[in-house]
Amino acid sequence: SLSTLLRRERAPRPAPAAAPTGGLVEIRGVHKSFGDLEVLRGIDLRIEPGSVTVILGPSGSGKSTLLRSINHLEPVTQGLISVDGEVIGYRRDGDLLHELHEREVLRQRTAIGMVFQSFNLFAHMTALANVVEAPRRALGIPRRRAEARARELLALVGLSDKTEAYPRQLSGGQQQRVAIARALALDPKVLLFDEPTSALDPELVEEVLEVIRSLARAGTTLVIVTHEIPFARDVADTVVFMDRGRIVEQGPPAEVLDRPRHDRTRAFLQRVR
Ligand code: ADP
Ligand code: MG
Repeated sequence: SLSTLLRRERAPRPAPAAAPTGGLVEIRGVHKSFGDLEVLRGIDLRIEPGSVTVILGPSGSGKSTLLRSINHLEPVTQGLISVDGEVIGYRRDGDLLHELHEREVLRQRTAIGMVFQSFNLFAHMTALANVVEAPRRALGIPRRRAEARARELLALVGLSDKTEAYPRQLSGGQQQRVAIARALALDPKVLLFDEPTSALDPELVEEVLEVIRSLARAGTTLVIVTHEIPFARDVADTVVFMDRGRIVEQGPPAEVLDRPRHDRTRAFLQRVR
């Protein structure tokens, strides 16, 4: 866990020669192991501000681990991730990086929204309360202002009429749209989606994809793990194909999806189509 990691080692590590610059998210030489299992094996990726990146790949290829690393839910074993110039989990001091304390990691994490396959709403709270909770607690935003913003966000995801509903009274698609509104409530610099429609009945997938498309059109920086290929073609600026902990190829959808260069990408696309 994070606190174990923070207890384990406090020794600073050398910073890279140049500060990561350019992308909103910079992933440099990232490796991640769970015991003997190396799950990420040297990931380099740059996410431009306002761009939509779709990550594809077989089950077990490390997609969720990569997203969780960006959010520092999984501290990486090697390499660096920065978001908007800040190294995640570390503070830069000249040529050295010092591990951040947990509360500072929590602060960094508020800039990185995440939406999971399984919604993870608070069951005992209304839709409105679910969206109000994080900005109240994490950012200390006054209740009235947080509520006004939450109503706007629920309207944005098409749920103005469900503000007082509890999760059990909502369909999966509606719950996932509440989860998206909740992630947006912290005004994240980047929003990460981990298979946001995989747990939904087929007829509810489109309403969630449509909300994600509207965020893309509005210029929100998005990183989306999904198996919805037509959606990827439609929404992505960059498609990244991962296999066995590596990025096998990346590029515009017209290249990666329609003219894949690698056998493994071709085989994967044939399976999911
Ligand atoms: P994907 O999202 O592409 O399906 P994951 O990132 O979830 O892949 O998992 C990649 C590999 O890492 C899998 O072999 C998985 O079993 C393993 N893994 C993921 N999380 C853990 C963990 N907390 N402890 C041990 N192994 C893990
Ligand atoms: Mg996954």
